[in-house]
Amino acid sequence: MPLLTFADTQGQAHAVRFAEREEIRIGADEGWSNLTLPAALDVAPQHAIITRSAFNRLLMVIDLAGRATRVNQHPVVRLRVLRQGDTLQIGRCDLTVWEVQIRRLEAGDPVLGKKCPVSRRVFQVGMEVIACPGCGTVHERDSWFLIEHCAAGCDYPNRQVIMDTLPSWMLVERHLDQDSRLIELIENGKVLQDGKFCQAGQARDQVPFQRGQHAVYCPSCQTPFHLECFVTLPTCPVCQYDITGLINRSFGVQNGG
Ligand SMILES: [Zn+2]
Ligand SMILES: [Zn+2]
Ligand SMILES: [Zn+2]
Repeated sequence: MPLLTFADTQGQAHAVRFAEREEIRIGADEGWSNLTLPAALDVAPQHAIITRSAFNRLLMVIDLAGRATRVNQHPVVRLRVLRQGDTLQIGRCDLTVWEVQIRRLEAGDPVLGKKCPVSRRVFQVGMEVIACPGCGTVHERDSWFLIEHCAAGCDYPNRQVIMDTLPSWMLVERHLDQDSRLIELIENGKVLQDGKFCQAGQARDQVPFQRGQHAVYCPSCQTPFHLECFVTLPTCPVCQYDITGLINRSFGVQNGG
């Protein structure tokens, strides 16, 4: 579930969680805002709205105040897509956007006893889960990372968001095509380029990389993997790089809901 975190003027940390499809109105006017911030920090009475695109389900901020809303230091001109880990500045308040969060189930969690729509496993205490940011449906961690779109049918673009969330210094090849060195190229029955194989050891790795797939390179040894293979591996099978740790840092593992 999307979350905004920020520190107030006293340095006190706050988190605002919002329900699916709800918009968040941010401003200094308490009657209008869902999230009220101090006018003394250059926050307009009706400053900005965070909502979700009906087209691609991504989070967007709409600036109502004119030039006093920034994302990662860049002024927002009317509207802008918000991504995981973005810093949203409302006047002089800094907020951090957490679109997707991994959480570890604790006793009393309302999803305990229900089933993941992908793996069909029953949720139990200690399991790591991700709630779909689009519709709230809870998935097992690896299930959420394996699927292209939300399995509950809301069409949330899991893979696109995963690629946007991985650190920008990682090499990601989106939608492999004939320009990629990973896929097999055959012309008139002659092999012009041998395809490369993902080293994850899954059934899909018996054949070389295919057009349209997404590839991610291990940050340490530069071995290419399918995106969905990489993000569900505990460590790189070639160099033992700690992939779970990387994913945990990128997706902010939290205990409880
Ligand atoms: Zn969904
Ligand atoms: Zn590696
Ligand atoms: Zn693979």
